[in-house]
Amino acid sequence: MAGETVVIAGGGQGGFQVAASLRQAGFDGRVLLIGDEPELPYQRPPLSKAYLSGQSSREMLSLRPEQFYADQQIELLAGERVTVIDRHRRRLQLASAGELGYDHLVLAVGARNRALPVPGADLDGVLGLRTVADADALRERLKGARDVAIVGAGFIGLEFAAVAAAQGLNVQVLEAARRPMSRAVSAHTSDYFTQAHTQSGVKFNFGACVVRLHGSGGRVTAVEIAGGQRLPADLVLVGIGVIPNTELAIAAELATGDGVLVDEHLVSSDPRVSAIGDCAQYPSRFTAGLIRLESVQNAVDQARTVAARLVGNGAPYAKVPWFWSDQGKLKLQIVGVIAGHDATVLRGDPDRGGFSVFCYRGGKLLGIESVNRPADHMVGRRLLSDGIGLTPEQAADEGFDLKAHAATPAKPSEHVA
Ligand code: NAP
Repeated sequence: MAGETVVIAGGGQGGFQVAASLRQAGFDGRVLLIGDEPELPYQRPPLSKAYLSGQSSREMLSLRPEQFYADQQIELLAGERVTVIDRHRRRLQLASAGELGYDHLVLAVGARNRALPVPGADLDGVLGLRTVADADALRERLKGARDVAIVGAGFIGLEFAAVAAAQGLNVQVLEAARRPMSRAVSAHTSDYFTQAHTQSGVKFNFGACVVRLHGSGGRVTAVEIAGGQRLPADLVLVGIGVIPNTELAIAAELATGDGVLVDEHLVSSDPRVSAIGDCAQYPSRFTAGLIRLESVQNAVDQARTVAARLVGNGAPYAKVPWFWSDQGKLKLQIVGVIAGHDATVLRGDPDRGGFSVFCYRGGKLLGIESVNRPADHMVGRRLLSDGIGLTPEQAADEGFDLKAHAATPAKPSEHVA
């Protein structure tokens, strides 16, 4: 790849990391980073937490200051978008009508918020949260709001609920499923978070199907759910998940599924094109089949894997997935992917502030959810990445030294399949 051109489509955390890691690894070709937001690449996690509540500033969001890009000879095209990939000519068309050639293209184009498909969803006061512009709009709206309705009790919904409730607003969460964060965490952890938010004044309505938003003078005033109940709302946050941005890849006839399909090296069906982060679906040794993960860890570690490959140090992507979510005083950390678990083991005491839920399938540890127990989380990362077995009995026994256990080398039979 010496002297060649790498174009990275997508200026989020993953795209930024490819560019930074290429330079760190001594890549001497041209590096172009194209992002459609008119900003320097920034971190998204604080948008629904410290930035939203006014505890952190815009400057603190930036991943690096502007000078970094000049110093590292990373050509940053902010406010620009790739519109067409011509794989045969290895050229890209840009929204600004320009064209660019590439030797290797990295798709780090992320995902977009799913829209609420009901009448009234376009009323003023109905907002989503993904970008810093969204967070700025929400910060402003929170100042004058009284009744906040949140559609979706996922990470966005609950983090936003914690911030809004702390500001003394009436907060009502409407969730289609029977419990919050149901795809990401066990029922035990869902129930704990429901209780904790309820104690902070948040009201929940599970199994709720929003059918219409009502307004007056173009502004939202209420949310109607199936059955006819109307809940007053002068601010509605929609956090009902995301859709991977695969349109560019589909138009370029790259293989796609629930994301751009890539192999264990994160290479797409075209060896000149890689895909990473929220938009990529890949084979993981931590799940039964292909997976697409929406997390900072995944985007950053996949970016490093691709950059290393492009400078000749190729290795399969094999990092253990982990996530976190700050909701008020609660810090939730998750390691592994717990979908399909058939048993859970509790360690610690939920009533005394901290606990972990160890999730198993067929006796094999799939993942660990920790609430205010960072040490368990760190040990969990080690256990899962090194394939060290842990029986349910060991997990449940507070006297069993997890840290020492995680430091023992794995026996071959304990390795994750
Ligand atoms: P999410 O975590 O996927 O949660 C969306 C929730 O909305 C799910 O519980 C979903 O239920 C529910 N839902 C879907 N359609 C609905 C409807 N019509 N009415 C009511 N509820 C509905 O997505 P998110 O909270 O919107 O977050 C967006 C993205 O940001 C995700 O990628 C998320 O991982 C990321 N994020 C991550 C963090 C973090 O890691 N701490 C924080 C914020 C955001 P079903 O599952 O039944 O569809």
